[in-house]
Amino acid sequence: MKLGRFIIDTHVHAQRHAAGPEFKKSGKTDLKKIKYNDLASIMRHLVTYDNSKRLLYDMECYQVDMCILHPAFGMSNELNVDLVERYPDKFVALVSPKDLADKAMKGEAEWTIEAACEELDRHLSTGKFVGIGEGMPSNPTRKTTYSQTERMDELRKVMEVAQKHQVPVRVHTGSPMGYHITYTRWPENFHPNWVRDIAAEYPDVPIIFDHGGMQGGRWDTLVLEAIQVAANHDNVYLETGLYWTELYYEALKDPNVGAEKLMWGTDWGASIPTQTQIGQHPQTFAAQVSKEGLVRHQVDVMGWSLKQVNRLNISQDDMNLILAGNALRVYKIDFPLTRMFKMVD
Ligand SMILES: [Zn+2]
Repeated sequence: MKLGRFIIDTHVHAQRHAAGPEFKKSGKTDLKKIKYNDLASIMRHLVTYDNSKRLLYDMECYQVDMCILHPAFGMSNELNVDLVERYPDKFVALVSPKDLADKAMKGEAEWTIEAACEELDRHLSTGKFVGIGEGMPSNPTRKTTYSQTERMDELRKVMEVAQKHQVPVRVHTGSPMGYHITYTRWPENFHPNWVRDIAAEYPDVPIIFDHGGMQGGRWDTLVLEAIQVAANHDNVYLETGLYWTELYYEALKDPNVGAEKLMWGTDWGASIPTQTQIGQHPQTFAAQVSKEGLVRHQVDVMGWSLKQVNRLNISQDDMNLILAGNALRVYKIDFPLTRMFKMVD
C-alpha cells in the first residue's frame, strides 16, 4: 500500500559524480582501495552526470510522486532545471551559487557572500527555483575557521535574498561520517542553535534543517538540538529521511513540533550506505564507514526510509503532512485538490 496520498522526497540528488576517471588520473586505479577522504578531496572538481533514470526507477518502485532536487558539491543548477522542464509534475529544484564557487576554485573570482547572493538573486528571478539549498552558501576556497559572528552575518545576507523572493532556505545539519568534516565549510552544521537568531530576525522565511540533525551515524545529539530549535520557532522545519523510527517519535512527542514541522527527504543519490547492527540500537542507520571504502551501487535509501515511516503508529493525516503536505505548503507547490491535507496556520 502506498504510504500517503502524495509523497514528496524533499532531498534528492539526481546527479552523480564521475569519480573513476579523476582517480585514475592520480594513479589510483583500484577503486576498492579508495577511501572517503580521497573522494572528499576531489569531490568539488568532479564532473556530474544526469542520474535521473535510476531516480525515476526508484520513484516508480516506491510510489514517490515528486522530488525536490538539490544541487550540492559541484552539481549543476542547469541540469536540475533541465529535469524540471522535462518532468514538470515530478521535479522542482533548489538553487545554489555554483558559478561563483567554480570560478573561485579556479582562481578566476574571489568568493564573497555578496557575489554569492547576487548569483542566487539572478537565478531566483527566473522563477525556475523554489528555494535555496542544499545548506547555506559558503566559500569553497576558505582555509580558516569562521567566527560565529562572521558566519551569522553571511547567513543574514542569504536570508535577505530568500525574503525578497519569498522562498525557503536550508541549513545543513549532520555528517555522513567516515571522513573529515570541518568547521570551515558550514560551521552552523554542528550548531543548530545558531539558527535561532536568524529564525527570529526573519520570521517570514522558512528554514529547513537538511537531515534534521541526522545525516549519518548513531548519535542523536544534533537531532535533539534541531528539535528544540524547531520547537521555539514557527518557521523552522526538520527534514527526516535519515531518521530511524524512534527519532520521528522524538520530534512528534514535542507539542511545539509535531507532524506539521516534519518533511520527509532522503538525500537520495548521496551514496550513504545503510548499516545494520543486529540487536543494537538503532539496528539500522545511515553512515559511510571509512574501512569499508566507497559504495559503488545506488544505495536504496527510499526503501529503507519509507520502512521507518511505515512503522509510525500515527494518524494518516499526520503521515500525509510529513510525506507531502508540509512540503507542498512551505515550497508553494501546486496540488490539484484543496483540503486534502490538514490545515496548518
Ligand atoms: Zn544532500
